[in-house]
Amino acid sequence: MTRMTTRRMTRRNAVLGIAAAATALARPSLTRAQSAARVVVVGGGFGGAACARALTRAHPALQVVLVEPNKVFTACPFSNEVIAGLRDIEAQQFGYDRLASDGITIVDRAATEIDIQQREVTTSDGTTLTYDRLVLSPGIDFHVEGLPGYDDAASELMPHAWKAGAQTLLLRRQLEAMKDGGLVAIAIPANPSRCPPAPYERASLIAHYLKNRKPRSKVLILDAKDNFTQQRLFEKAWQELYGNMIERVALSQGGRVTSVDPSARTIVTEFGNYTPDVANVIPPQRAGRIAEIAGAADTTGWCPIDPGTFQSKLVPNVHVIGDACLGGGIPKSASAASAQGKACAAAIIDLLAGRPPEVPRLTGVCYNTVAPGYGFSLAGNYQPKGDIFAEVEGGMTSPVDAPRELRAREAVEAERWFHSITADSFG
Ligand code: FAD
Repeated sequence: MTRMTTRRMTRRNAVLGIAAAATALARPSLTRAQSAARVVVVGGGFGGAACARALTRAHPALQVVLVEPNKVFTACPFSNEVIAGLRDIEAQQFGYDRLASDGITIVDRAATEIDIQQREVTTSDGTTLTYDRLVLSPGIDFHVEGLPGYDDAASELMPHAWKAGAQTLLLRRQLEAMKDGGLVAIAIPANPSRCPPAPYERASLIAHYLKNRKPRSKVLILDAKDNFTQQRLFEKAWQELYGNMIERVALSQGGRVTSVDPSARTIVTEFGNYTPDVANVIPPQRAGRIAEIAGAADTTGWCPIDPGTFQSKLVPNVHVIGDACLGGGIPKSASAASAQGKACAAAIIDLLAGRPPEVPRLTGVCYNTVAPGYGFSLAGNYQPKGDIFAEVEGGMTSPVDAPRELRAREAVEAERWFHSITADSFG
């Protein structure tokens, strides 16, 4: 039986996430000794939770330990709707009870040290956990050296809202407190970064909020890129829905943010300085810090892997999945992290059993909602090519000139996708 779902992707199975490959079901049996292996997964987000569940489902006798400091995970997809006042933060939150009842041991602390030689993870209370295989799925941290002036204190004045939770609510409160006629600036970093279309979705939904509540206000995008994914779809929607409310300064127009001065709320670009009423500054990113501590991140700040198994190229017995890995053509998204988690689980089981892992084929789908009832999507298939994942045939993007009924349908599909992927990861 093959482990990867290789069926042709249709919009429906992309929505439901069932083309997200690597089902890790019906794995060949492990010997008693192999079954007693311990896999420690660091990070209980989309990648880590999907991986831990796939391991346990495939082989309940495996010892699977999930290390995650938060008792409740707050999801980023749809968090732009929270910022725009269209959704409550509680709709984004998921606990780990289901994973625990699946037989996964949940350790609610952060991993602070990793000893590659001894195969040990130390957690914030000093406990050590040994492993046969370690999976790192710590998401992102910020590359603050890449943005002078920006640090944790600055994020309290100029929220990034790029990790969902308190930052999401802070940005929402700032928008609510802003006067009509105010300026909201969104600083967007260059790629690679988490969910490349999400900043433009955010600009759209903030414009929706302003149009209804503070119609004399503006959104200014300061962009470190000239072109961005699904650009024609976004720009058409902006024109149709928001007139000239959204203005974008691209890289070649001097839009790249070079530093910030949080005390004056000033954003410095290659072209000039801006002092908006609300400054949403999304800094450059890199893999979650624990990946660097483990020695799994290279000078780019991301983690090179063998895309066939997700094994680190830098440290043995360690796999890196989700936003933290250098995935090549596969965008850093929840869809990709979840599919990678399942494929990684299947590869680990093959490796424990001494069998060569099968070649994964992954599917990622990304929805953008630019207003209530107005969505569009992008789906792709990816396979290993050399050291990275490359896009292969079968991808789909929404047509630019689609009727509004399709946009409305895609907005509904986006909700279903969110329900499906969170149920898959968290139960
Ligand atoms: P995460 O889901 O971030 O999980 C990482 C986990 O690791 C966290 O729970 C963290 O607490 C934990 N962790 C970190 N360090 C440690 C440590 N030392 N010890 C233990 N645990 C640790 N993707 C989509 O597919 N569709 C969308 O529509 C979409 N919309 C988005 C909108 C926004 C505004 C943003 C910011 C992102 C969006 N994304 C979307 C991207 C998606 O959220 C990420 O790509 C996805 O969460 C990556 O999964 P991950 O497992 O790599 O990291």
